[in-house]
Amino acid sequence: MDKFDVVVVGAGPAGSIAAYLLAKEGLQVLLVERGTFPGSKNVSGGLLYSRIVNEIFPNFWEEAPVERAITAHSIVFLGEDSALALHYTDTGAANSPYNAFSVLRAKFDRWLAEKAEQAGATLIPGITVDGLLVEKGRIAGIKAGPDEIPADVVIDAEGAKSLLAKEAGLRGDFNPKDVSLGLKEVIELPEATINERFNCSPGEGAAFTMVGQSSGVEGGGFLYTNKTTLSLGFVAKISSLKDSQLKAHEIIEEYKSHPFISRLVQGGEVVEYSAQTVHRGGVHLIPQLYGDGILLVGSAAGLVLNNVLTLRGMDLAIASGVAAAKTVLAAKEKGDFSRAALSAYEKTLKENVVYRDLETFKQAYPLLENKRLFETYPDMLCSTMKELFSVDTTPRKKAFGVLREKMKGQVSMIEMAKDLVQVARGIGV
Ligand SMILES: Cc1cc2nc3c(=O)[nH]c(=O)nc-3n(C[C@H](O)[C@H](O)[C@H](O)COP(=O)(O)OP(=O)(O)OC[C@H]3O[C@@H](n4cnc5c(N)ncnc54)[C@H](O)[C@@H]3O)c2cc1C
Repeated sequence: MDKFDVVVVGAGPAGSIAAYLLAKEGLQVLLVERGTFPGSKNVSGGLLYSRIVNEIFPNFWEEAPVERAITAHSIVFLGEDSALALHYTDTGAANSPYNAFSVLRAKFDRWLAEKAEQAGATLIPGITVDGLLVEKGRIAGIKAGPDEIPADVVIDAEGAKSLLAKEAGLRGDFNPKDVSLGLKEVIELPEATINERFNCSPGEGAAFTMVGQSSGVEGGGFLYTNKTTLSLGFVAKISSLKDSQLKAHEIIEEYKSHPFISRLVQGGEVVEYSAQTVHRGGVHLIPQLYGDGILLVGSAAGLVLNNVLTLRGMDLAIASGVAAAKTVLAAKEKGDFSRAALSAYEKTLKENVVYRDLETFKQAYPLLENKRLFETYPDMLCSTMKELFSVDTTPRKKAFGVLREKMKGQVSMIEMAKDLVQVARGIGV
């Protein structure tokens, strides 16, 4: 088999961007994807923060298969039969340069991989890379079934499972408490119904982050609008899912039966169901990013930002693809793909503003560990609102009095003060 300059494993956003940038500079690039086509196996809520893609493909939305420009974001606390929403609308986000789009990965990843192919990369879908080729202690290519494909450098863009990263000795075993399982349904509805139900103008969309009513499973939900579908999902901490004894699909079913959600998805047909692991995110979970002849990008490098308000991975994946391409180009010029030469990757990545967001929100991780945030407070807030808006034959109480009453036996003032400090540290309010 011919030797390539670079083999990229995985045609997700990280891999396709790296392959595109390297092929554009004339390197011989092989992009290997286990799915029958790029995106066929990928799971994501689908909210793409678009600034970084726009840097690579200016005005990409004019040709890329994006769904809707997101102009409304809501954080929704779910009580048993009630919901308290913090709703934000920005009609300006419906204009260039656009903050975020909803995307369907089967279409978007395919488009990105086509860009890599048009730049000269060789894309081979339907092949699973099952090992690394090692020569004299350094990574020297990949193994796929009976084939061994040599390369100067391997870019591991295989996503969250990152088995090759483990094989290369760049990470150890995952701790179940640091990994979540993302569950997602795509629910079809007519475009006009979505516009009406979500109060959206054509082409504009809404995003919901949901906290609470998770059947005791630690995690949170999301609901994003696409053109003629909704992406509804739940990201569940794996250790907590195991303890709950619930089956993954049962969580989504329960979610869909909540009155806040059932009205939004009513009449829709489930056209896709998928599940995938996702890191809980945070700088402290990032493994060794490079070795002799290998670089880790995207989810394989643990690059996920979850600060409760947003779950971001695609823009981080793209940023790492850019940084990896820059590093490989410099290494190619020197003809040196050693660990020392590739170490420049970490510095380049850390300079990227998208990566710096990970550092800004490094205190967000403890928030995800705080059960009260996901169980006690959503219920407490909703029942406090219920009481404040209800008028019956008993005398009404002031808001703080109602809240104190709801707190009894659930959370002390000291715990609540500590939690508020944690929220302030985590999301910087
Ligand atoms: C439920 C859920 C919701 C999410 N919501 C959002 C969101 O709204 N916004 C956001 O920005 N991020 C979100 N994320 C995170 C985001 O999906 C990831 O961070 C992003 O997809 C990472 O991109 P990647 O290119 O590194 O890996 P992936 O997108 O996982 O791509 C990896 C690719 O490698 C291929 N592959 C894997 N192993 C092999 C192999 N051995 N051989 C060949 N090919 C292989 C796979 O088929 C796949 O195409 C979500 C994740 C989940 C699970």
